[in-house]
Amino acid sequence: MKYYSTNGKQKDVSLQTAVVKGLAEDKGLFMPDEIRTLPKSFFDNIENLSLQEISYEVAKAFFGDDVEPDELKRIVYETMSFDIPLVKVRDNIYSLELFHGPTAAFKDVGARFMSRLLGYFIKKQGEKNVNVLVATSGDTGSAVANGFLGVEGIHVYVLYPKNLVSKIQECQFTTLGRNITAVEVSGTFDDCQALVKSAFMDADLNKHMKLTSANSINVARFLPQSFYYFYAYAQLKKMGKAENVVCCVPSGNFGNITAGLFGKRMGLPISHFIATNNKNDIFYQYLQTGEYNPRPSVATIANAMDVGDPSNFARILALYGSHKAICADISGATYNNMQIGETMKQCIDETGYLLDPHGACGYRALEEQLKPGEVGFFLETAHPAKFKSTVESIIGKEVEIPAVLQAFMKGTKQTVECSKNFEDFKAFLMKE
Ligand SMILES: *Cc1c(COP(=O)(O)O)cnc(C)c1O
Repeated sequence: MKYYSTNGKQKDVSLQTAVVKGLAEDKGLFMPDEIRTLPKSFFDNIENLSLQEISYEVAKAFFGDDVEPDELKRIVYETMSFDIPLVKVRDNIYSLELFHGPTAAFKDVGARFMSRLLGYFIKKQGEKNVNVLVATSGDTGSAVANGFLGVEGIHVYVLYPKNLVSKIQECQFTTLGRNITAVEVSGTFDDCQALVKSAFMDADLNKHMKLTSANSINVARFLPQSFYYFYAYAQLKKMGKAENVVCCVPSGNFGNITAGLFGKRMGLPISHFIATNNKNDIFYQYLQTGEYNPRPSVATIANAMDVGDPSNFARILALYGSHKAICADISGATYNNMQIGETMKQCIDETGYLLDPHGACGYRALEEQLKPGEVGFFLETAHPAKFKSTVESIIGKEVEIPAVLQAFMKGTKQTVECSKNFEDFKAFLMKE
């Protein structure tokens, strides 16, 4: 399968190049030339398949031409080795719990897949010393760092905004050591993302070291996220609830929802998507007006969605071609901190189900938009304990920290400090 750039200047790129480069030379995002429809027989039988079996079928449609079957199967099975249950919250509203992996957030899926696929290609190229740069607003850093921890030949630099991620999130990528370096940037997530983008474009740096990205722009992180949409559908089908399915995705950089939209294009019977935003509602505004106006992000209690210029918007546009076509499949929602808190409190009081601030945006949008006869599921994108103090102050109860997260909190924080100026960041990397 070949890949093209959303900016149109690069075509016929191999999977290997797309994965190793991350971003296209014209600064566009890579898209597969073809999105293959899966056969009817697959959907007829999907409720009898495991998460790993479903994932492998979906993976073959994207990667089957480029990775040997045994290797691809190994990568998929290793990646999808934790459960992703669909849990009933109330009548016709379900939570797809994506927080049962090693860092308790959905980004584990893409990060684990990517680290293994990149490792596979690097070995094939006989290379050593590839450097992964990743900007994080919280959960990407931990998922990527843990996905790559100890992978030979790869060093990871995690850039994160100083004081803008939660303590637990920070522990998950600043305490690992080994091949992981955490860079604490005096700025916002957008500044971190800008530093990473500038690094890829800088000729001196690229001469000095081999760079690649692990943000959701990388196809190896982005595409595997489609797997669990199929598994959610399989679980609904098993319950006899697979008609008129609506899927709601708490969105920041829009990688997660875009993978779901790819699933729909492959034939997954989801009738409608809702992209739910916090106050960083650039996409919501786009749906209303047809105009895409990025603006600086503002900090909210759903901090992994604090993105002012969602990269994957370019992919949505490439997939659909027009505002009208986008609006036919996707509707929007936007909530402020007060509404998010109110929803968490109300949900636990009425149903006993504890939402995290991101999942709360998903749950609320379904509550507001679901029509009679529809069944909705939202993506519970992270474990509530990752936002412990926020969640506790809202619900007035203690939140237990799962064992996987507790283990991280015992480590010692090690970081490199950096300003938001590219020259500083470059100087640091040139010494590495
Ligand atoms: C990253 C993240 C999001 C946003 O996902 P995108 O793919 O960037 O849209 C939502 N919730 C949580 C908990 C996240 O970590």
